[in-house]
Amino acid sequence: TTSTSSSSTEEPELRSPILCILGHVDTGKTSLLDKIRSTNVQGGEARGITQQIGASFIPVENIRDQAKDLAERLKFEFKLPGLLLIDTPGHESFNNLRSRGSGLCDLAILVIDIMHGLEAQTIESINLLRMRKTPFIVALNKVDRIYEWRPCRNVDIRESLKVQSRHAAQEFDSRVKDTVAQLAVQELNASLYWKNPDHRKYVSLVPTSAVTGEGIPDLMVLATQLMQKIMAEKVTYRDELQCTILEVKTIEGLGATVDAVLVNGVLSEGDKIVVSGFGAPIVSTIRSLLTPPPLRETRVKTQLIPNKSVKASMGVKIVAPGLEKAVPGTSLLVCTEDDDLEDLKAQAQSEIDSVLNDVETS
Ligand code: GDP
Repeated sequence: TTSTSSSSTEEPELRSPILCILGHVDTGKTSLLDKIRSTNVQGGEARGITQQIGASFIPVENIRDQAKDLAERLKFEFKLPGLLLIDTPGHESFNNLRSRGSGLCDLAILVIDIMHGLEAQTIESINLLRMRKTPFIVALNKVDRIYEWRPCRNVDIRESLKVQSRHAAQEFDSRVKDTVAQLAVQELNASLYWKNPDHRKYVSLVPTSAVTGEGIPDLMVLATQLMQKIMAEKVTYRDELQCTILEVKTIEGLGATVDAVLVNGVLSEGDKIVVSGFGAPIVSTIRSLLTPPPLRETRVKTQLIPNKSVKASMGVKIVAPGLEKAVPGTSLLVCTEDDDLEDLKAQAQSEIDSVLNDVETS
């Protein structure tokens, strides 16, 4: 409603893109997540934050620090507030989201083990991403396992490739070629990201190591760059509330809580909410909104902190009575003074119906 593009030179406000990581078992999904989080925490104490909430927010300052050299060389300017990484690819909600064909993720990172190439679940993941029309990049992980590889901690991958022996470089080239050929069989054009002629036609490959940190700056910069350049519209901040429930948990001392991803809009303490519930829609009031403290300040296993309000995008734990029967994968709605509660309940009910319908037909 606000796009009067001709006159306005002001850049639109962007929200953090939502990233998810998927791929075959043992390719290094968890390790990559850990690496991204821990290299982003001074002192390296990342453990304990994330299982609390289902999504980790990586502020842009951290990405900037981590990818300083690479960003300088590319003259790359960060405009996004950060990246929001969904922690557990196995979330229940992903099944619901999958079957309902709606995508929570703005961009996916598909992890392939460079020593193994495409595996059964890699192909499943590709088909899933296609079905959801989710754009993705490939982390070609475990480069450090290439014979004679000389590890260069946390540097960008092209710097690392410069110091490799001829042998290691040749093996690297041939494994990249193999993966590109295997992706072609899946009817995907792929290219090392710095050689990619067209990001809309070719999938970018980012060689990484979750052990040495090589290629992690590249992964962060490329994800940011793609979202800023090609998908800016998708991550333009909107006031209209969009919030998806990932998980429902009852916690001692708090009662029923849901872990949710706030994709757009603002949630505030005291908001009247409508949620899809097994049985019937649930109407409740937000008692408290909890988020992990900013990564930068997290040195020890910390507690979640309460917020008066939370702005997208962010992972948030919502405390409200009666949420025990909330359905993961469905939307959380806010009933403002202008809304008709019965309309919202009907909307929540129709989401439940479509989820149950999908469960029956799948
Ligand atoms: P997931 O099942 O995809 O989450 O894979 P994990 O992160 O659990 O990793 C599986 C195994 O591979 C673990 O033993 C990791 O330590 C190891 N691993 C993961 N990434 C790398 C990597 O980049 N290099 C090496 N050498 N090992 C890795």
